[in-house]
Amino acid sequence: MSALELVPLFSGSSGNSTLIRAGKKNILIDAGRNCKQVCCALDAVGTSPESIDAIFITHAHHDHLDALDVFVRKYPADIYATASTHKYLAKKFKKPHPGAEDIVIVPGREIDLGDGVRVLSCDTPHDAAGSVCYKVMYEGRSLMVMTDLGYVTDDIRAMSEGVDGVLIEANYDKMMLVYGPYPEDLKARIAGDRGHLSNDACAEMVRDMIDKGTTNFILGHLSENNNTHEKAYMTVTQYLERYKLVQNVHYNIAVANRYEPTKGIEI
Ligand SMILES: [Zn+2]
Ligand SMILES: [Zn+2]
Repeated sequence: MSALELVPLFSGSSGNSTLIRAGKKNILIDAGRNCKQVCCALDAVGTSPESIDAIFITHAHHDHLDALDVFVRKYPADIYATASTHKYLAKKFKKPHPGAEDIVIVPGREIDLGDGVRVLSCDTPHDAAGSVCYKVMYEGRSLMVMTDLGYVTDDIRAMSEGVDGVLIEANYDKMMLVYGPYPEDLKARIAGDRGHLSNDACAEMVRDMIDKGTTNFILGHLSENNNTHEKAYMTVTQYLERYKLVQNVHYNIAVANRYEPTKGIEI
């Protein structure tokens, strides 16, 4: 069985991109930061930018697409996104993108990339029109990227049931956000239903997913100002301990690096 692998290239409010290697296909979920940084990160994990077949964009926030315009002018990867996200990209980007095709995805409708690789999307509650998360399926296994969501909807819960691994958002520590430097309206937006998942909300979802058979987790999209690696990791693992769920016994959890690739999930 050939590999299915999820490798966060970088993750956090400063920029996001995740490489998924599925058999013969190489996929990026989001392309934040800049083209050079995406290429450097790809190089560090032994994948060439020329070999990227498709880029799936979750939503139209800069930390998910700053590298995209230049990347697809250099390398012929197709861009998959919802109609609202494509509309935003069309206004923002300098065309042409030779060799890159814009493909509109519909949440809930499966995309067949060929070579046995399929991708499913689901609406996410977030403050950008047409926001989605993605699940990549290959040879009976699946991996998911679940970031930028105010809360976990029933549809997301259903789509994530039984996936083998997930990059899941642990955006902020509640106390750091409350006592931190952000203006009140921004704090409310982050903590709101169309904002981000807190470490506590992430912990609850991780527990729910372990109950349903998922064992591999990478915590990602950490806020630079309202979270730390340690707080995210400790909040989630201490919550799981209360349910007698133990790291390396019942699950594996890592925290994604902000500026460089993280050891991925390979199944
Ligand atoms: Zn984001
Ligand atoms: Zn966002």
